[in-house]
Amino acid sequence: MLKLAALVAVTAASAASAASAASAASAATSVSSASSTWPTTAPNSIEMPSITQTTSLDPNVECQAYTAPEFPLLYDSKSFPQPWVTASVGTNTSAEFQAVYNAIDWSKAPNIPVRKLLSSGALNFTGYDQDEDPDCWWSASTCDKPKIPGIPADITACPEPETWGLTYDDGPNCSHNAFYDYLQEKKLKATMFYIGSNVMDWPYGAVRGLNDGHHIAVHTWSHQPMTTLTNEELVAEFYYTKKVIKYTTGVTPLYWRPPLGDVDDRVRWVGMQLNLSAILWNEDTIDWNAQPSGSLPQSVVEGLYESYIEMGTNGTFAHSGNIVLTHEIDNTTMSFALDYLPKITAAYKHVTDVATCMNITHPYVENYVHSTFDSLTTTNTTVNAAASGNASAIASASATGSGTSSSSTSGASTTYTTSLLSVALVAVVSMLI
Ligand SMILES: [Zn+2]
Repeated sequence: MLKLAALVAVTAASAASAASAASAASAATSVSSASSTWPTTAPNSIEMPSITQTTSLDPNVECQAYTAPEFPLLYDSKSFPQPWVTASVGTNTSAEFQAVYNAIDWSKAPNIPVRKLLSSGALNFTGYDQDEDPDCWWSASTCDKPKIPGIPADITACPEPETWGLTYDDGPNCSHNAFYDYLQEKKLKATMFYIGSNVMDWPYGAVRGLNDGHHIAVHTWSHQPMTTLTNEELVAEFYYTKKVIKYTTGVTPLYWRPPLGDVDDRVRWVGMQLNLSAILWNEDTIDWNAQPSGSLPQSVVEGLYESYIEMGTNGTFAHSGNIVLTHEIDNTTMSFALDYLPKITAAYKHVTDVATCMNITHPYVENYVHSTFDSLTTTNTTVNAAASGNASAIASASATGSGTSSSSTSGASTTYTTSLLSVALVAVVSMLI
């Protein structure tokens, strides 16, 4: 099992080269002009790189930092925030950001205060009527139906019976390939809620996520409790995460998940201005907090997995499905997934991503057709999942004229081609929850 310490060690070893790499990358300004045109840049201007993926199970190999020469824009500090800092820092005065911010009619913004944190880091609910819950603040009440008209309700469960909504938060990360290989082998698709900073740090993981047919969604730039951020900070957290996913994969997500589930009607409204609707969950494995990196005995997480699996056969989901919160943070969380997915697929009639279970055929701004739930039920599930995932990626690449989608979908590529040079590797492991 990958120890988080190994990741920390790699991160530290790579940090020294980050500055020089960033400097070198910033010199590559020949393509920077494209950034100023986003989001009006047409999808067909984004080329999908041809990338050889590692399938190593050795964390010392898989977690070596790498450059991503296909994505020079990722390292242009004028076009993106620094990883793991609030996205508005350093970008809020740029013409690009101001144009996005000023395009929003703030006179219509909900008059809801920015929340505070206690010294412990927990949200401060002092003064908030949690029973009345006027702002539909999920952290206070698990409210998922906005009190303000016009804001769509959060998606919290797959509506189809006996269906497990498969979701993984906090990726992409360095040790994704063994896990993604498993999903690919089993023809399983999940909704991947990517952190913008992680997409910048591990862009090939995001490319593979899309090319494997997973549903890609936004999980903010720096993974903070969103209700504690100002409107300006919210716009930046949404905007730059969408942008880095767009530049990396070629698609612009229309769905997002709030870190820690921390969302209220102000945050939802700002997300709506950025064309983002919220997806939460109705079952939580708390896998992110398992030992050794977390504080919970692994038996607690195992117990939760077991109980949710049992619900697949005891009638709990006879008339509707669930959405389960799990993570791809490190080898601990992904080992849970690998251990329990066979039991999940045995207990549930369908195991699939949120876009598929909700029949969201267009989960991105671009014309990229995602599979429908009906297609899962009217044909062999396994065959269809494979076809829809890869075919849609290929169709997208073909439609955009790039035609160079990753060969990773073949499952046969095993060469590890990335270098040791780290670019913008400022991954703060403790922030990955
Ligand atoms: Zn998260």
